[in-house]
This record gives sequence, C-alpha cells and structure tokens, in this order.
Amino acid sequence: SPSIVWFRDDLRLADHPALLAAIDRGEPVVGLYVLDDESEGIRPLGGAARWWLHHSLTALAADLRERGSHLVLRRGPAASVVRSVVSDADAGAVYWNRRYGGAERAIDAALKEGLRADGLEVRSFASSLLFEPWTVTTGSGTPFSVFTPFWRAARNLPAPRQPLPAPTDIPGLPSPPAGDDLADWELLPTTPDWAGGLRERWEPGEAAARARLRTFLDDDLGSYDAARDEPSAGATSLLSPRLRWGELSPNTVWHAGVETGGGTGAEATSASRFLSELGWREFAWHTLFHFPDLATKNWRSGFDAFPWPPLRPEHLTAWERGETGIPLVDAGMRELWHTGYMHNRVRMVTASFLTKNLLIDWRLGEQWFWDTLVDADGASNAFNWQWVAGSGADASPYFRIFNPERQAERFDPRGLYIGQWAPDSAAREPIVDLAATRREALAAYEHVKRAR
Ligand code: FAD
Repeated sequence: SPSIVWFRDDLRLADHPALLAAIDRGEPVVGLYVLDDESEGIRPLGGAARWWLHHSLTALAADLRERGSHLVLRRGPAASVVRSVVSDADAGAVYWNRRYGGAERAIDAALKEGLRADGLEVRSFASSLLFEPWTVTTGSGTPFSVFTPFWRAARNLPAPRQPLPAPTDIPGLPSPPAGDDLADWELLPTTPDWAGGLRERWEPGEAAARARLRTFLDDDLGSYDAARDEPSAGATSLLSPRLRWGELSPNTVWHAGVETGGGTGAEATSASRFLSELGWREFAWHTLFHFPDLATKNWRSGFDAFPWPPLRPEHLTAWERGETGIPLVDAGMRELWHTGYMHNRVRMVTASFLTKNLLIDWRLGEQWFWDTLVDADGASNAFNWQWVAGSGADASPYFRIFNPERQAERFDPRGLYIGQWAPDSAAREPIVDLAATRREALAAYEHVKRAR
C-alpha cells in the first residue's frame, strides 16, 4: 500500500526526512500538497506568497516527476483532504515534516490520531527548524524571552544534524490519484498583473535556492558582517523566501555556512554573524510555538494598555504606497511592493515609523507585510513587528524610536537606495512631523509603564 508524503512548508527533495523515510518503506510514494484556506485558525496566504507558492510547486512537481513520482494537488480543509487522498490511493502510511503554528499543530495531531486509529502508519519528522522548540528551555524548563541566553542554550545542545541527501529515484504509482490543475488555484495575479517586479527579482524552486546559497557563500559572505545593514549593498543572502518555503532546510544552510566560514578573518566573523541570524529565525519560531497568538496578541500583555489613537486611514494608505514624504520609508515600502521583499534595516525603519510616528497598531503593518512579502511567515513577521513595536520578546526598548533621516544618513549615505526606489520622495511634504510625533509616542507609552 502506497505511502503519502504530505509536503507543506518544505518544498524540496534534499534534506527531507519524511520523503526519505517513505522511500525506505519500500512502497510507491505519492507526494501531496494541500492548499488550505478553510481550516479554523489557518491564515490564508498573502498575495506575494501565493505567487511564490505557484512557482515553487511547479518546480517541485517537475523534480518529483523526473525521479519517478508525482505531486497531487488538492484544495480544502487539510484534515478531510488528506483523508480523501488516503482513500483514493488506498495508502498505508502518511509521513510529513512537522509544523509549529498552533492551528497547524492541532490539525496534525488530530489527523495523526485519527489515521492511526484506522490502522495507518503515520510518522512526523523534524526538518524546518534547527532545534525542536521544546528542547531549548531555561534551567527551570520555561521558554526564553531574551535572545542571547536562548541562543547560548541552543548552541550548547548537540549540533544540528547534517543534511540528508536528495533521493535520485522515487518510486511512484502507475496511476496516481486525481489532483487539481495548479492553474485553477489562481495563485498568480491577472489584472492587474503586479508580479513583474517579483519575476525580475526571484526564481523560486529548489534548484535556484541551492544556487543562491552557493553564490552567497562563495562570493558575498566575506562582506556580510560589514555591509549587511546597507540596503543598497546587496550584501545579505536573500535566502528568507527559500527558507520560508522550505526550498532549503535550515540544516542545509547551517552546515554550508559552518563549512565556508570555518577559517579566520572577515569570513569567519561574517559566518558567525550570519549563523546567528538563523538563530533569530529559530527564536521567532520557538516564541510562536510557546505563544501561538503571536500575530494577534501583544506578547507582553502590559502593552495592551497602549492607547492607540483612532486610525487615520489616509496615513496607513500613504505608508503602504510609499507616499509619506520620508524618503527612506517610501523607498522601503516601494521596494516591498515592487519586489515582494524589503531589506531588514529598512523593515525596521518602516515598522518603527508606522507604529511610533503614525501611531498605527503594529497588527495593521504586520497584515500589510503578510500580504506583500514573499518571505512572510507565521513566526518571523509577527515576531519582528512586535519586536519593533515594543510589545514583543526581547523587544527594543520603546523609547528607542528610529529616526528615519538619521538612519538614511548612516546606512544609505550616498542615497543609492533612496535614489533607486523613491527619488521623488524628498520633494514631498512629510505627512507628519518626526519630532512632534516622537514626543506623542513617548507620552502614549507612559500608559504602558503605568499599567505594569
Ligand atoms: P540575511 O541577513 O541573509 O539572514 C539570513 C536568514 O536569517 C534570513 O534569510 C532569515 O531566514 C533569517 N533572519 C535574519 N534576520 C531575521 C530576523 N530578524 N528574524 C527572523 N529571521 C531572521 N523575516 C522573514 O523571514 N519573514 C518575515 O515575514 C519577516 N518579517 C519581518 C518584519 C519586520 C517588521 C522586520 C523588522 C523583519 C522581518 N523579517 C522577516 C526579518 C528579516 O528582515 C528578514 O529575514 C531578512 O531581511 C531576509 O533577508 P536575507 O535572507 O537576505 O537575510
């Protein structure tokens, strides 16, 4: 009886423990992907994410076909869809790699129990994080709330395992269960087609992801530490969407980074900096595991007392469109809209501007990023928004409000980034006064301090 491998945020063949275990079982393998916009608690994907998913699924289906198997696409509530594919394929086993969001875990746990009760073999594997969230805890067994001790504790655990090889042959079924046509999912924009900038910047799929990892480590790693904060330098890895969709596993990136950065000098400093950024990804996901409402609730409950003023929709729209009259903010928001990506330094500046100069609730910014980022994920996006807003784990102190003009002088001194994305912005009237709004934000924060 065939084995089903349920692909989720792991759209790759290399370092895929569920797939390898299914092949070892010695029966035909059916690959399955479920587009689930319906299950309770599952957040529908944003527009840019759908674009990426379309292309990544196309690549995965081709890779599976080439090796003898196939990818069945189905849409609907995951639990019932998996069950119907099990029955269509007359499957005897279902394997998957674990997910860590609250609703996802609940679905997977119930499904595992139900399928096992029906006599199926169900196994889940670790592959989307370097460390399982329940393994990194304080001495008293509680989750960490500060990054440095979290990462120190994680590094004291046994090192992440070496990546597993990609299988060369994957036995398939002569006639696999019927699936949807990817085009019918309408993941790509039609009118208007806003994806031109995404097509220019990105090539989704495992092969392109591996190539990007190699290029970054071989050519750019040495300058990462020095130039990673400059948005025009192109010094960062651009691996975030590849990790988001699991075209690369964190273990693959980790071990490649460790091997390339093994020497001394700039490369070694850069490598350890780069590896600790993967640590932030871990910290965000571990935080979500312990606090599943990360995208909707303040991680620090004291922040519930923050007096957000009534929303001024015209300010939110100006921010979204990159029409605030603050050049670095406008440049970032336009890079985001055009390419589905924004440089990390500018993400911090635009998020700070929204929450502390426009006094708009971080949840509205998180939602916009969710819809427009190709790397938007359930943990890193909410985690970082809360970090900037001051409501999150290890958050920057509230009074540290980014001044977008100083940030531009420091990190875009020659104006290259602003010149590329928002050359017209400086000629606009800023929608708010930076100094006055800063004072208002600090006054509003007094309510949080009093609430503690
Ligand atoms: P590199 O500097 O090359 O870093 C390597 C990898 O480390 C990244 O690919 C990413 O997986 C991880 N990483 C780096 N910084 C962080 C971080 N602060 N938190 C978590 N992981 C990190 N990152 C996302 O992957 N998805 C998001 O939805 C997301 N939303 C963000 C929202 C805000 C408001 C802010 C300030 C940051 C957000 N980030 C998010 C974190 C960070 O900006 C991106 O991971 C980074 O810019 C991706 O570019 P890169 O791959 O070139 O990064």
